[in-house]
Amino acid sequence: MPDKKEITIEELAMFCKRKGFVYPSAEIYGGLAGFWDFGFLGVELVNNIKKAWWHVHVKEREDVVGIDGSIITNPRVWEASGHVKNFVDYIVKDKKTGEEFKVDAHEVESYKKNDKYIVEGVFNPMFTTNVGPHAGKGNLVYLRPETAQSIFANFKLVFEQARLKLPCGIAQIGKAFRNEVAPREFLFRAREFEQMELEYFIAPDTKCPSEYMDEIKSVEVALLTEDMQKKKQGAKVMKIYDAWKKGIINSDWHAYWLAKELGWFLSLGARGEKFRARQHGKDEKSHYAVDTWDLEYEFPMGWRELEGIANRGNYDLKQHQEVSKQGFEVLVDDKGTKVLPEVICEPSLGLGRAFIVFMLEAYEHDAKRDNIILHLNPKLAPYTAGVFPIVKGDKYEKLAGNIVKDLRKEFSILYDKSGSIGRRYARNDEMGTPFTITIDEDSLRKKTATIRDRDTTKQVRVKIDELKDVLRKLVAGEIKFEKAGKAVETRVK
Ligand code: ATP
Repeated sequence: MPDKKEITIEELAMFCKRKGFVYPSAEIYGGLAGFWDFGFLGVELVNNIKKAWWHVHVKEREDVVGIDGSIITNPRVWEASGHVKNFVDYIVKDKKTGEEFKVDAHEVESYKKNDKYIVEGVFNPMFTTNVGPHAGKGNLVYLRPETAQSIFANFKLVFEQARLKLPCGIAQIGKAFRNEVAPREFLFRAREFEQMELEYFIAPDTKCPSEYMDEIKSVEVALLTEDMQKKKQGAKVMKIYDAWKKGIINSDWHAYWLAKELGWFLSLGARGEKFRARQHGKDEKSHYAVDTWDLEYEFPMGWRELEGIANRGNYDLKQHQEVSKQGFEVLVDDKGTKVLPEVICEPSLGLGRAFIVFMLEAYEHDAKRDNIILHLNPKLAPYTAGVFPIVKGDKYEKLAGNIVKDLRKEFSILYDKSGSIGRRYARNDEMGTPFTITIDEDSLRKKTATIRDRDTTKQVRVKIDELKDVLRKLVAGEIKFEKAGKAVETRVK
């Protein structure tokens, strides 16, 4: 991809609305701050992001299973987890503009000392509602502010039923809700959003297997430790593995998951230099965390948290054990030894923030083509391919229709028979469709079709019978586009 001009978050939001990715929720009534609806392309993209995340975090692994917990649950979960008491934001008001926003506990003192602001008070961002027809204390419930707690509450059941052994993980993708004081910056800070979370459990003081550590040896990132921040130093690029060896990252497991999380973004086409790992200061950590490294991304608004990667210790299981009076210890050998597992790492990623990252990475205005090209990875693109008959006539449309029907058994396919071929290409480039297949005279005579590559506009001709197999290999990245068939001269780019 050529050097690209970065766009603002507002420009991205406008593009997403114009193309059918994301709209302000119920815009016909003026929308509602912090709530968004995904359109016909957006829903495909988020489903593909979730699928790609689930594949790497659950399906590819021997040690992780998933669950899908309810959004509303017994409120004692949130009392035990500490959210009712400790999950608070401080509301700060800008005296001049009247604008309100939230700050974390560790930032409050500096705002109190600054004449320009008033610290108005604390606020718990959990949404509440009532179960049953009667409002009242006994019926008060919360919309979950994180998905993690249903993993902890169900830990014992899942561990035993899935016959897990430490170390192991439980993953979940689902909605979370926070009544943010100032939702802003498109999907970055929403009131309703989705999280993709993994709780990874180990027996205390056990090491990360060397084959896991070998996997991450080459992954590097700009690191910003607590100490470097205190000294106002800039981030330093280093191998995550080396950072662990030097004791900069305390735990091997933490280094492993940090590298895996970054690696996931890189494997889907993101640029490494846009990421950094920043350690939380002592007073910045959440109430449950032992150590936290945020995977940050350079958003158009600046460096911001993309994903929190926290060591939660045994805080949550211990709390639930104490409050529920159920045992959460598990066997670790045949001699009957039991331990309370520790959550050595919790990668917690907001789907909306991942969506923004993939869109920003993909978006390019190509001056030569005078068009926006969305260079989405084929695994994420809403449509894998577009199919266009380029010669008018029933027999061409019939053939194209049959090809579409067959390809749809496996791929997401867009059929488009209207407009000039150039317009059809351009429309699909803007939607991020990586491949477009054209049906012409030779398709009837020689049973071949052309495939066009979105990024280079190069074309190859392949046998119709082989289209499915070729597409499968192209999406998996198993073959280079040029090797997918016989090169043909490109007339319309
Ligand atoms: P922030 O400091 O930005 O409010 P946080 O530290 O409170 O985030 P966590 O509690 O660590 O966030 O949540 C884990 C992840 O969930 C975040 O890294 C982010 O990707 C996502 N997330 C949290 N709050 C929101 C939100 N209001 N809108 C969209 N995504 C969110």
